[in-house]
Amino acid sequence: MTTKLTRDAKLLRKSEVPGAAEVQVGDPFSHVDTFAHVDSFAHVDTWVFDLDNTLYPPDCDLWPKIDQRITQFMIALFGLDGMSARALQKYYYQQYGTTLRGLMDDHGVGAAEFLAYVHDIDRSSLVPNLPLAAAIAALPGRKLILTNGSRDHALLTAEALGLGASFEEIFDIMDAELIPKPELRTYQRFFDKHGVDPQTAAMFEDIERNLVVPHQRGMKTVLIVPEAGRPDHREPFEIPGTLTLPHIDVVTTDLGGFLADLTAARGV
Ligand SMILES: [Mg+2]
Repeated sequence: MTTKLTRDAKLLRKSEVPGAAEVQVGDPFSHVDTFAHVDSFAHVDTWVFDLDNTLYPPDCDLWPKIDQRITQFMIALFGLDGMSARALQKYYYQQYGTTLRGLMDDHGVGAAEFLAYVHDIDRSSLVPNLPLAAAIAALPGRKLILTNGSRDHALLTAEALGLGASFEEIFDIMDAELIPKPELRTYQRFFDKHGVDPQTAAMFEDIERNLVVPHQRGMKTVLIVPEAGRPDHREPFEIPGTLTLPHIDVVTTDLGGFLADLTAARGV
């Protein structure tokens, strides 16, 4: 097999060599042959995507805008100064999985009100990602979004990215009965609602802990990371110290490139 993949998908394959040196986040990504992954994705007929920082570049300013809206919501709710509100926000995010969960459990905040407020942002910085749309369209099988955000946010964001027709279904935080990933029951609810067999599905995410359950259930797992040196809006605790984690099959900086190369390689 000599077909050459011309695009530099900047893949980093999980080392399967015992004792191999770990690759630290931030190291330059080296090109790894996509053919190495083709066989292991050959059975996949359901493609499941996170939304924020996965379908748009992690150095896009969209997430910081949502993050700021959450801070503003908490300033108004508690009458706190900005720094105190932000500290409480991050505490809830880390302890409960989403800030909303903490606000609901501890303060009875209404989910609909919170979600509408924090997702009321300017999305004009997003531009259509036509290569990604084409790559997703070419995948065989079903494509779904599984997000800790709201359905309206997912619809508006996908539309702005030129991905408005790319997905069959969106499973949002309300579908999850406000229990966010990485809770096992949320994935199970998602599998049940949409008839997804995790053994023939793949999950794409920017937060590694959200790939633990998918891996346990037999999904192929792909972690999307920023290119070295680019802004990274994940929280420090969300950034793994190593990319050789057992629940991650593939690490890539280029979701569209990876998918396009998978499709091209399948067609060989
Ligand atoms: Mg995300």
